[in-house]
Amino acid sequence: MKDLVAFCKSKGFIFLSSDIYGGLNGFFDYGPLGTELKRNIKNAWWKSMVHDREDIIGLDSSIILHPRVWEASGHVSGFTDPMVDCKVTKARYRADKVFFSPINVQGKLLGYICVTDEEDPQVSAQKKVQALLKANHCKDTPDAFELKPLTQAKPEEFALIPSPATDHAGDLTPTRQFNLMFKTNVGAVESEASTAFLRPETAQGIFINFKNVLDTTRIKVPFGIAQIGKAFRNEITPRNFTFRSREFEQMEIEYFFPAEEALWPELHKQWIETRYQWHQSIGVKPEWLSFDVHQKEDLAHYAKACTDIMFQYPFGVQELEGIAVRGNFDLTQHQTFSGKPIGYFDEERKTKYLPYVIEPSVGVDRTLLAVLVSAYDEDEVNGDKRIVLHFKPQLAPIKIAVFPLVKNNPELVEQARTLFKKLHTRWYTLYEEAGSIGKRYRRMDEIGTPWCITVDFDSLEQHTYTLRDRDTTRQTRLSESELIQFFEQHLEA
Ligand code: ATP
Repeated sequence: MKDLVAFCKSKGFIFLSSDIYGGLNGFFDYGPLGTELKRNIKNAWWKSMVHDREDIIGLDSSIILHPRVWEASGHVSGFTDPMVDCKVTKARYRADKVFFSPINVQGKLLGYICVTDEEDPQVSAQKKVQALLKANHCKDTPDAFELKPLTQAKPEEFALIPSPATDHAGDLTPTRQFNLMFKTNVGAVESEASTAFLRPETAQGIFINFKNVLDTTRIKVPFGIAQIGKAFRNEITPRNFTFRSREFEQMEIEYFFPAEEALWPELHKQWIETRYQWHQSIGVKPEWLSFDVHQKEDLAHYAKACTDIMFQYPFGVQELEGIAVRGNFDLTQHQTFSGKPIGYFDEERKTKYLPYVIEPSVGVDRTLLAVLVSAYDEDEVNGDKRIVLHFKPQLAPIKIAVFPLVKNNPELVEQARTLFKKLHTRWYTLYEEAGSIGKRYRRMDEIGTPWCITVDFDSLEQHTYTLRDRDTTRQTRLSESELIQFFEQHLEA
């Protein structure tokens, strides 16, 4: 992970936000290449989810909404994470990400252990068990144990559980709920009445525009509304690079369908498959994708089902996307809180109702990280080690690089610049003349540029060029029109 962070910084994919001031925890800036990659991911999502379909349309709602929206949605009262602090070290943890277990020896309690999920909890737990045995001069084998989240500790156990930082019982504060929404004030006067929130998800902007969309389009249920935009969560422990940040971007769809129980299982299945295929289509490695089907008891009270698409990140298998069946809870709440009827009128059945909804919700930043990790490879070319990013051409930040064989021959440079300008107007192309051709190839491999074109002395007479492929390193000689045809085929088909 450290290598990935360093790589992202050195190549201009991702920087710490406010880097020159020491960074701001949970915030990131995308550099020149990261910006292109991010834009290409969002475009791929929009094309596949909106433009390639007839049943989904777009929306771009504001980040700050009427504060009542968040009361209706339940975020003011319930968008919280359980938080616990170590009184001694002042370390702060999400209580559901801290794990404990009593350690028994032949059925007799020896003490408790407590670990966080920062390292592999099982490995840390084994180390702590050994330390506990040693401290108690116990040479016996401990009984089998099972780690549970701190949120499941019984009140009488809590005082016995040590802080994961000090291994001392009694050093943890009681667990309390922390609301993740960032607060701000709207207008010149700061008061309770002017309090507003930065949206913690884009979804509510869709629900509150449901009626506007119905009134201004001819779309009929079933249909979806898609939105890409920033979301903000004051995460207790932002970490794992951009995976858990405090400012991030979401790509969300609310897919509305008739409020009939029999319909959602099949539709949910279809959406899970659609989204699983999409991730693969942008180059996320299928062998690192998996599913987490939420158990009934873990679902929000209004949710009927939820399946997460998981990805094997360098720091473990974690959620990439959530696909939830939400019933019509959100529309019902907004209808009640606003006092405005927002139901859908079914012309054929002559009935008005609030449709059910399926919500495929994915983070742009988590997708970008999955794409990067999937694309990253180290191999050997003619005995030389190279780093190469095998991005799909559509996602590659730079599509083509044009090189004159040498930079001190004006004729070569002129021809290379002419070719570059022609390509650049259609595809994002880079002109490079510094260093040997081999070094220039390596630099392009490292940032995932799929094709390099070299203009050499034969080019001057024959008007043909060497096209070099990033993945195979194979070189072919093509004329200008053949090059254009090739790129049209590979970048626009
Ligand atoms: P987690 O359990 O990992 O906190 P979540 O279940 O709270 O995630 P959702 O509310 O379902 O996440 O949000 C939908 C998607 O938004 C997630 O699948 C993820 O891709 C993205 N996302 C959520 N929180 C963050 C964050 N703090 N940083 C980056 N992306 C996020």
